[in-house]
Amino acid sequence: VEAVPLSSNEPAGLDGAVLVILRDETQKHHLEKIRKDFVANASHELRTPLSIIIGYLENLKEGDITDPVEIQRAFTLMKKHGDRLASIVEDLLVISRMESGQTEALRLEVFNFDACAQDVVHRLSPMVANSKSRASFKVDTGEDPSVFGDRFYWDQILFNLVGNAIKENQGGGVKIVVRLRQEPEFSVIEVRDDGVGIPLADLPFVFKRFYRVARHHSQEIKGTGLGLSIVKRAVEAHHGTISVHSKPGVETVFTIRVPRKGS
Ligand code: ADP
Repeated sequence: VEAVPLSSNEPAGLDGAVLVILRDETQKHHLEKIRKDFVANASHELRTPLSIIIGYLENLKEGDITDPVEIQRAFTLMKKHGDRLASIVEDLLVISRMESGQTEALRLEVFNFDACAQDVVHRLSPMVANSKSRASFKVDTGEDPSVFGDRFYWDQILFNLVGNAIKENQGGGVKIVVRLRQEPEFSVIEVRDDGVGIPLADLPFVFKRFYRVARHHSQEIKGTGLGLSIVKRAVEAHHGTISVHSKPGVETVFTIRVPRKGS
């Protein structure tokens, strides 16, 4: 509640009156809580690899590790956690760029979705070549490959969705299909794979920041837990929606709907 005394040059009769402004603070407090939780989580996620690296550096400096094999192991682990730090910082920068831009700041244009998807697949190919994954891709955009949106955001969306489908399916063959179809008012984009999938119990949480599905070999899978929250944020900036459904071992489908130009 805010009370603002009205100035003396108000129209006659209002002199000395007070304007009372009632504002709903619930939403503001809610957003503030989300921000605080995010900073706390991000700090925790950054601190863990940092303390591991610092721990090994101290051991090496003090000469506590002398066995050459152990020294190599320490370097490998430091590199692994250093890479993780770099990925988290990169994702945080993307989030920060998205949060600081208002929706008006999106560079909206009608772009060729087919070219964008092919480019993402091309950039992700080394990830397949360097891993045990045997992924195959198909991009199917039908007759009208146009989407109304910001290419930087769409690049993030597809890179994260297709990247997840590859990295969650190391060791097995997986078929990944990116499909676009047009409805009168919406462009509908599906990213589908036939890999390990997401257990039902995890599904409601996968878009939350830092949430990762615990798998018995999860240390093997690189990730920050930020990818899908970036995707969701990017879709919402386009006034779109995203949903996911998954039948582990059968199919996992992320479906995005964004308004077409003029809708
Ligand atoms: P991460 O950086 O761990 O990939 P994300 O936010 O991108 O974080 O994804 C959250 C979790 O959702 C991941 O830990 C992963 O286990 C699960 N996930 C996302 N996409 C898929 C997929 N296509 N197949 C199986 N699991 C997936």
